[in-house]
Amino acid sequence: MSFDADVIIVGGGLSGLSAGITAVREGLNVILLERGEYSGAKNVSGGRMYVHALKRLIPDALERAPLERPITKETFEIFCDKNRKLTFSFEEKDKKNSFSVLRSKFDRWLASEAENLGLLISYSTLVLNAYREGEGITLETNRGTLKAPLIIDASGVTSIVFRLLGLRRFTPDKWMLGVKEIIKTDVNLPENEGEVRTIVGAIKGVKGGGFVYTNKDTLSVGMAVTFDSLPKSEFPAKDLVEAFRERIGIEGEILEYSAHAIPYYGFKNLPPLYDKNLIAVGDSAGFLINDGFTIRGMDLAIGSGMIAGLAAKKIVESRNFSNTEVYYEMLKDSFVLKHLELAYNRFELINSPSTLSTYPEILCNVLSDMFTVEENRDTLINDVLYRLKEKGIPLSQAVRDLWKAVK
Ligand SMILES: Cc1cc2nc3c(=O)[nH]c(=O)nc-3n(C[C@H](O)[C@H](O)[C@H](O)COP(=O)(O)OP(=O)(O)OC[C@H]3O[C@@H](n4cnc5c(N)ncnc54)[C@H](O)[C@@H]3O)c2cc1C
Repeated sequence: MSFDADVIIVGGGLSGLSAGITAVREGLNVILLERGEYSGAKNVSGGRMYVHALKRLIPDALERAPLERPITKETFEIFCDKNRKLTFSFEEKDKKNSFSVLRSKFDRWLASEAENLGLLISYSTLVLNAYREGEGITLETNRGTLKAPLIIDASGVTSIVFRLLGLRRFTPDKWMLGVKEIIKTDVNLPENEGEVRTIVGAIKGVKGGGFVYTNKDTLSVGMAVTFDSLPKSEFPAKDLVEAFRERIGIEGEILEYSAHAIPYYGFKNLPPLYDKNLIAVGDSAGFLINDGFTIRGMDLAIGSGMIAGLAAKKIVESRNFSNTEVYYEMLKDSFVLKHLELAYNRFELINSPSTLSTYPEILCNVLSDMFTVEENRDTLINDVLYRLKEKGIPLSQAVRDLWKAVK
């Protein structure tokens, strides 16, 4: 049977492009299929990218890529109730570890880098069906049929090829809903500074949180919440981001609105990452970290894409297309699976009902007591114990949870 390429990549987001760039550099014959008219047309991200993986993919990217601002200030806001909120900030000027990005610009730039390296990208090409045929996989698209012995599924959270081959179920219980607006506003910051605000508790009922990222002259404002908590939310999903923006006091012209699912499996529940002739990368593999401090999917997408490109070379050279486990072995040695494992305790903690509702309330109660002077006053530790007891949380559980948060 003749094939159209050594490798076909489905999806031209960060993971697919990173896989394509790496595989082409390794001398493979690669075709990438992207349903959008250009890369970035269909991609949604809140927009903070940790750039360690990008710098490995394109060493001079910080000088050339369309990055918005370096993130030099982190602010956490915990809304306890209508009248009380705890805020703290940490500033580190000159830090260049993460940047705000706008995906429509960034992915387009990365795609042009890939094309300059010789990656063949077919835009406006939607994969509609996939089946095994002979020694490979056949993909039916709106523009014709293509076959390859190795497919990299980089189609994002829907992991279309895995699903079409019956290797995955549709799993919204393992996804979060991400909603985002880009707001035109005055960003009163020097151009080498940027801020990320991480906000919990602003909208009651939802499990998840919100974010505000400063771009060059806009803000990315959004929320990531679990689907199962949406019925308990004080606002319907369609009004979530508007209500959130009002609550945190951000006004301005809405330039863009988008909504997208976000994988939310956690390290111990990851879906199958490989099969005969098939590899999953980025969101398609469920690689996302939401550990309460930050949402990270972009660096994991780039990292896993690069590993897939290197693994593809080994698989193609060996001509053993059943041996895709080589990809998993390489992943295990990489930051991708190591960081996902490190974040698992906090992932579990965030999923416990007390973390995002009861603990913030206890914290605010203790702080309120601290800053209230009456004739009756107790020690701080007695107050903490009292406030925990009031909410029915034994001290042993609080200590265990604290341990989980830092472990
Ligand atoms: C609201 C929100 C906020 C987020 N914030 C952050 C953040 O601040 N930092 C961070 O690191 N991560 C963040 N993430 C996660 C991050 O966006 C993802 O992890 C990342 O985009 C994954 O990249 P990917 O290439 O794997 O998938 P995607 O970016 O989803 O790319 C998949 C590509 O496949 C294409 N495709 C899909 N189906 C087909 C098909 N059938 N045929 C052809 N092409 C197809 C799509 O058009 C798309 O271009 C956020 C996500 C959301 C939704």
